[in-house]
Amino acid sequence: MKVLAILYTGGEAARQEPRLLGTTENQLGIREWLESQGHEYIVSEDKEGPDSAFQKHLADAEVLITTPFHPGYLTAELMEKAKNLKICITAGVGSDHIDLNAAVKHGVEVLEVSGSNVVSVAEHVVMSILLLVRNFVPAHEMIERGDWQVSDVARNAYDLEGKVVGTIGAGRIGFRVLQRLKPFNCKELLYFDYAALPEHASKEVEARRVEDLKDFVSQCDVVTVNCPLHEGTRGLVNAELLKHFKKGAWLVNTARGAICDREAVAAAVKSGQLNGYSGDVWNVQPAPKDHPWRYMKNPLGGGNGMVPHYSGTTLDAQARYAAGTRSILENYLTNKPQEPQNVIIGKKGYETKAYGQR
Ligand code: NAD
Repeated sequence: MKVLAILYTGGEAARQEPRLLGTTENQLGIREWLESQGHEYIVSEDKEGPDSAFQKHLADAEVLITTPFHPGYLTAELMEKAKNLKICITAGVGSDHIDLNAAVKHGVEVLEVSGSNVVSVAEHVVMSILLLVRNFVPAHEMIERGDWQVSDVARNAYDLEGKVVGTIGAGRIGFRVLQRLKPFNCKELLYFDYAALPEHASKEVEARRVEDLKDFVSQCDVVTVNCPLHEGTRGLVNAELLKHFKKGAWLVNTARGAICDREAVAAAVKSGQLNGYSGDVWNVQPAPKDHPWRYMKNPLGGGNGMVPHYSGTTLDAQARYAAGTRSILENYLTNKPQEPQNVIIGKKGYETKAYGQR
């Protein structure tokens, strides 16, 4: 059996730190195990274009392992050519880089390691909310520059207490964000999701559901995006929706870059319609050098908390998604049933309700 994994190259850091499992150097820690059973294991970071290792080996691979951090984009066109492909495993959470409808058409199963990094991301969301609301980045940059002018940063710094915070998507991550925000004594916690939280969960976090998206964003001081990317969420936060945000609201997106319109967000930050935008996900990864989200600033020179895609790839998370990948592979190799929560596309099509309403 040929197993193809598309991972990013970690370089010196990955040679020094073996716990960087999601790299081409450390290979999710499964090479020895796979090869001891006579399987072929190809690992590469080369993923773009017809001559890439990705496209070359996809032609006869049976198993494809990818991560959302360095996504091997498996389009419908490539799926046509992957004649031997049976199963795609996402080492992490979020399989939007696979054309899921094409996977259904070709009978290819898609699994992810559900839950493996949801705490990692929820912690990053809370950090991102705080760094925007408290105007942290410009304050730190001031210190590095050798300056000290408190008023320049205090003029745009607020408390989170007393603000209204809402999440688009209240699944594993969205719910954990609400749980972590509870002790901050926000004025209100809101959520927008076509699936209601179970009663015990909404009671625990005391979150109110708002069913209309424009109505929802118009009530929030902070909006955090925590839903998957699918047909119903691509470009969801666009110029039209941004008009309905409170002027000077903050937006945090660690879900997927393409859920927020690149130009509309940059323009909203520049104009001050958004006081800031923060997150780690980009509509193309790696993000090009000239991507406006790298450099956008609000009129007071702050409001940008962007980082590379790493919220869900802490060392703790990597240990969990590497182990989860191996366990999915073991089930596949021994014909054992998969954990239901990991199955996005099963033998009969969509098995999750999180990738849009069908
Ligand atoms: P989940 O499946 O537990 O929850 C997703 C929730 O989004 C569900 O409740 C679903 O009903 C809701 N949803 C779907 N479409 C919606 C829509 N149109 N409007 C409102 N809500 C909608 O998933 P999760 O574990 O919470 O992860 C969510 C997403 O976060 C992943 O799909 C992935 O894209 C992203 N993620 C990012 C990182 C990172 O490192 N930045 C890591 C993990 C996950």
